[in-house]
Amino acid sequence: MEQSLEHKRHTLAHLLAAAVLQKYPHAKLTLGPAVDNGFYYDIDFSAGEAPGDADLKGLQKDMKKLLNKWTEFTHKEVTADEARAAFPGNQFKLELISEIEAKGEPITLYTCGGFTDLCRGGHCEHPNKDINADAFKLDKIAGAYWRGDEKNPMLTRLYGLAFDTTEELEAYETQQAEAKARDHRKLGKELDLFTFSDLVGPGLPLFTPKGTLMRDLIVEKIMQIQAKYGYQKVTIPHITKSDLYKTSGHWEKFGDELFKVKGQSDAEFVMKPMNCPHHTQIFDAQPRSYKELPIRYAETTMVYRDEQAGELIGLSRVRSITQDDGHVFCTVDQIEQEVENIVNVIKEFYTALGMYEDGKFWVSLSVSDPNDPSGRLGDDAVWDKAEGTLEAVAKRLDLPYKRVEGEAAFYGPKIDFMFYDAIGRERQLGTAQLDFVMPSRFGLEYTDSEGQKQTPVMIHRAIAGSLERFMAVMIEHFAGKFPLWLSPVQMAIIPVADAHNAYAAEVAAALRAAAFRVELDSSKDSMGKKIRAAKQAKLPYFIVIGDKEAEARSVTLESRDTEHSETLTLEELLVKLSAEVNV
Ligand SMILES: [Zn+2]
Ligand SMILES: [Zn+2]
Repeated sequence: MEQSLEHKRHTLAHLLAAAVLQKYPHAKLTLGPAVDNGFYYDIDFSAGEAPGDADLKGLQKDMKKLLNKWTEFTHKEVTADEARAAFPGNQFKLELISEIEAKGEPITLYTCGGFTDLCRGGHCEHPNKDINADAFKLDKIAGAYWRGDEKNPMLTRLYGLAFDTTEELEAYETQQAEAKARDHRKLGKELDLFTFSDLVGPGLPLFTPKGTLMRDLIVEKIMQIQAKYGYQKVTIPHITKSDLYKTSGHWEKFGDELFKVKGQSDAEFVMKPMNCPHHTQIFDAQPRSYKELPIRYAETTMVYRDEQAGELIGLSRVRSITQDDGHVFCTVDQIEQEVENIVNVIKEFYTALGMYEDGKFWVSLSVSDPNDPSGRLGDDAVWDKAEGTLEAVAKRLDLPYKRVEGEAAFYGPKIDFMFYDAIGRERQLGTAQLDFVMPSRFGLEYTDSEGQKQTPVMIHRAIAGSLERFMAVMIEHFAGKFPLWLSPVQMAIIPVADAHNAYAAEVAAALRAAAFRVELDSSKDSMGKKIRAAKQAKLPYFIVIGDKEAEARSVTLESRDTEHSETLTLEELLVKLSAEVNV
């Protein structure tokens, strides 16, 4: 967040508190920070009346009135007792004051327009001049526990939106409305792609035939693109002895997120939260020579993480996560070519989705902190070389990249592809992560050209990332209007009357023989109703067959996207659709 905007938002939290106290003198203020779309204030109204949604407009008006008088912030450092005297009977502020006192930090009170709050600072100096009164608004009311702990009292959280300009506020609200209309939970149900069951449990999506088809289409596309780069499929079980993660070091990292499995023996088993450790064991099953490297494994498989129920969101945050996973074992010198191959797969895959376009994505190059290389585990020379290599690849392939220093994991630098979706939200999708640590934890080795034992480098790569999250992103990006190759049903064939059913069936058979996914709608419904159904299902095309078409043995193809229709022979239709599907 830009510093000055954060100051405006923080200042508005004060202004909100002042407006609330004016109207609800019994209210007890607690905490009110800036957030990334505005601000909020958590307030205890238990001593009297509390505001409801209908009161937001009035409070907002009061804020605007007060703002005119908020000319300048002043502040003073006070003793703990002086601070306590400023908030008599407010146990929340008293708790905060005692905490600051215990830490030995300065206690400051900030005042503007006659309203004083306990605060560390970070406001606009002259709120009436700095803040655009038409660029903020009160948004909603929710409940929130004091300090997020459900054992504490429930407070009322008043949310506000705030931006630098009215245009930015309006753009944000438009985007929110768009996001709501595209919500994958809503569209996923309408398009019959996935479902949840109380009996199965939260965060465990069930994919319908159409949803499963989409998953398969995504995976097949990736496999088909990367086949030329020498990836081999492998298969691993979904459970493992806990020893695997004790060796990899993930036992501690995943901790409570691991699902434990009780078997008949004493051995401790867990559902796998990741695949890399299993894959190392396939590499390690044979003595390896430098001549075999790189070795590249790919597998689309589920991992399981016991995310907190409150954090689960549709397909975006689940407990059963399908990874389109890949691991490359190679020498330091081979990193460059392998990363380039991964970038090429990402490029080809996202091009097929129309997302790999200038200005629609950027690449984050996460490297270590040059001022604090102590965060890197492993050989410094290898790190330096690998970071240089990643940047060289980014430059050579002309990627729009940004170096983000200090963002590398302790085990290696990485590149992440960040795509902007149709309504401008940034989505982290493809990734290539170097790993200098896991191979040595598992004692992986290969024999180099001089007969010496060496440790390979491991590259973790994902093209789509988690299939669940990827589907959520695609549903929202396309608003359910998927490109032809990704549509579970590609077109509906609509005979105008019973007399046209035979020729319609012939057209459907020809399209199916050419591997198109077709629904033939020979129901008794009216043509208008059939067309509406095809449009509602957001099918890329529908084909209407009446007298004219049956006689000429042609088809009239109508497009979802252009509302344009054209009459084609069956041969022309197949040529056109094949060209579109092979993007
Ligand atoms: Zn403040
Ligand atoms: Zn991995």
